[in-house]
Amino acid sequence: MGNKLKVGIIGATGMVGQRFACLLENHPWFEVTVLAASKNSSGMTYEEAVKDRWKMTTSLPEKYKDMVVKDAFEVEDICNKVDFVFCAISLNKKQTKLLEEEYAKHETPVVSNNSANRNVEDVPVLIPEINGAHAQIIESQKKRLGTKRGFIAVKPNCSIQSYVPPVNALMEYEPQTILACTYQAISGAGKTFNECPEILDNVIPFIDGEEEKSENEPLKIWGKVENNKIINAQNPIITTQCIRVPVTNGHLAAVFVNFKKKPSKEEIIKAWESFKAPEIVLNLPSAPKQFLKYFTEDNRPQTNLDRDYENGMGITMGRLREDKIFDYKFVCLSHNTLRGAAGGGVLSAEYLKACGYLTAK
Ligand code: NAP
Repeated sequence: MGNKLKVGIIGATGMVGQRFACLLENHPWFEVTVLAASKNSSGMTYEEAVKDRWKMTTSLPEKYKDMVVKDAFEVEDICNKVDFVFCAISLNKKQTKLLEEEYAKHETPVVSNNSANRNVEDVPVLIPEINGAHAQIIESQKKRLGTKRGFIAVKPNCSIQSYVPPVNALMEYEPQTILACTYQAISGAGKTFNECPEILDNVIPFIDGEEEKSENEPLKIWGKVENNKIINAQNPIITTQCIRVPVTNGHLAAVFVNFKKKPSKEEIIKAWESFKAPEIVLNLPSAPKQFLKYFTEDNRPQTNLDRDYENGMGITMGRLREDKIFDYKFVCLSHNTLRGAAGGGVLSAEYLKACGYLTAK
């Protein structure tokens, strides 16, 4: 194991947990020492627990097969075996919030994919390329929780990952209003086609809670750290419609934007192509080399062709043109279980380690 950090995956048997397991199989900085899920799975080997529901296209990594799955609520026992945990569980918000806090209070940092703590003022919602500086709020959070090293950091909802990065690259032009319609994959609900027959030959115009998250979370990401809190930005005003479509992976968005200082089309493309993450992020093992890519072809990005751009960690855009009502419209795409979930979680953890927030116990 060398000097790798020991990590647990809480929710290891689910769609996102399986992604975490695959991404961490040969990770240079992190070694999985605990796999945990509900009481239904605990006590089984990981192979037994996922045998009829392995959802990845690659096979179940050998190294996890014989690991015995733990009950996610055996917090103390798990905390004795890890330096930090990734958390991706399907529980109600109240229970999830309490469980994540319990790990933090047992001096075990939590890098979470769940939404339960995203609205807490001293919990950073990280896209390291954009708002890595929000990690500084962790010091205030530790004071509130009474911890020395335990804290919670979260990654944002998968639905916003496609449109927040390209809009962020245009902040100097002061975006005022954004309309985004997202076309979201079924893996976003933790499902495959076998588990979601209602989506075949169909489009479902409702994803519970998704529009609220899609409209509010970007404002926290663009917010400021002040007086031990993250104060949300007031602008741009965002309205969304989130729609489930029959694809396995990849959330695509059709986006319309008005600016205070309207840029030219060339200025927008230049801002996207020249966007560079801070050096500390670029050097992380999971960071995309080029975060944003613009396609000039009229029929790109396409979910099936482009979701794996930069190992599923980059964002692709296309179809930028002027609009009759808004200044511009464009299409953008991100991989929901990679950049939008486990990959984004791993990148955030790498960033937190590089900043000294994640250390060996
Ligand atoms: P999922 O496939 O339904 O997996 C849920 C996981 O939670 C399983 O490991 C399950 O264990 C565990 N679990 C369920 N009830 C539990 C309980 N009472 N106690 C402890 N563990 C319990 O869900 P998912 O799609 O991976 O999503 C997990 C979380 O990530 C959710 O909060 C979701 O909103 C968020 N997220 C998902 C995506 C995505 O693209 N899918 C993107 C961003 C964020 P068992 O197998 O033992 O039941």
